[in-house]
Amino acid sequence: MTMAAASFVTHLEGAIDGAVLPARTLQTTHEGRPILVRYDLDGVKTALARSDLHDRPPTMWRYRELLPVEDESHIVTLGETMTPLLPCPRLGGRLGVERLFVKDESRLPTGSFKSRGMAMAVSMAHELGIKRVAAPTAGNAGGALAAYAARASMDCFIFMPDSTPMINRYEAALHGAKAFLVNGLITDCGRIVREGTEKMGWFDMSTLKEPYRIEGKKTMGLELAEQMNWRLPHAILYPTGGGTGLIGMWKAFTELAELGWLDEARRPRMYACQSTTCPPMVNAFEAGDRFAVAPENPHTAAAGLCVPSAVGDFLILDAVRESGGKAMAADEHRLEDWMRLACELEGIALCPESAFCVGVLERAVAEGEIRPDETVVIFNTAAAQKYAEVIEADLPRLDHAGGIDWAALA
Ligand SMILES: *Cc1c(COP(=O)(O)O)cnc(C)c1O
Repeated sequence: MTMAAASFVTHLEGAIDGAVLPARTLQTTHEGRPILVRYDLDGVKTALARSDLHDRPPTMWRYRELLPVEDESHIVTLGETMTPLLPCPRLGGRLGVERLFVKDESRLPTGSFKSRGMAMAVSMAHELGIKRVAAPTAGNAGGALAAYAARASMDCFIFMPDSTPMINRYEAALHGAKAFLVNGLITDCGRIVREGTEKMGWFDMSTLKEPYRIEGKKTMGLELAEQMNWRLPHAILYPTGGGTGLIGMWKAFTELAELGWLDEARRPRMYACQSTTCPPMVNAFEAGDRFAVAPENPHTAAAGLCVPSAVGDFLILDAVRESGGKAMAADEHRLEDWMRLACELEGIALCPESAFCVGVLERAVAEGEIRPDETVVIFNTAAAQKYAEVIEADLPRLDHAGGIDWAALA
């Protein structure tokens, strides 16, 4: 055999203008906008049948023909397991839909779905010879990058707003990253990473500023399709910050449709869920715009959704519109109610970001936007346990020596 490429990647593509860029070279953005990975899908179709997947280990790497890594020995992994798709009849009943599922991404390494994107991005950086990486983060991306960089023995620099949840600070520090608290927003942290690129010689792993995190997040969509027997749900509710997951899933569904792997050609309506106090995608969607404007005074206790401006805004909005879905906001002040509802009714540790999906679903059903007989999937993008600050649990105290008042316990 010759040195034929071991992946089916044909080229990279500037998302804003379709410009063709060479694969297997270091790429960041094109015209300041994201770059997408394109595959020889006919080649994939010849090499792989859906049923071939059965015998493969239950990790995101089972879809390797649809992923960009050339040489499997370059994969940097912490065991990115397939995540369960949990039926939620009680929560669904309360919200008015018969078939509600939560895809529980909290099981992934570092307790959030950021590990899918970072496992891929770090693997590709490793394949392309990168030794030093940096990223701004609202929380979980920093923890995930720090962990994978440690695994790959890379230098890692993390910049986070000083409002970042405590656990995210710990995890970045524990994994040996050089992590800093910045007195600003994630956009300010992003500027530091951008400005430092030349001086510090790091590779910028910011959301959508390199082509591969999307490919990692794409596996959420591939996995969902496989778990649902190649019949996608009617609606997906996704907590949207930078949008990698939503864009990645939509790309997955498009590729699966092209491969002819979907039993029903229908693709889901995508709902981008945000907080009322940081709703750039909702504002742009409602205004009919393709590009978003940073909202005034953006803030939310759901750190992952505190992303006032996203370089992939047009990709999020295009996907939402093409799918027939919407960008919708739910009330910041009710975040804790929705978290509790999911946790209490289903035992799922729903993160604050995904709580907004519960709020949006409640509204969407009330408005007739989502019908009771439709199949609906909410993504739980991280473990509630990572957010010690968000939920107040003022537990009553018991004096073990004082005699227990049993009647008072119930
Ligand atoms: C980063 C993050 C999000 C937003 O993800 P995007 O794909 O960038 O929109 C949602 N939830 C959690 C828990 C996150 O960490």
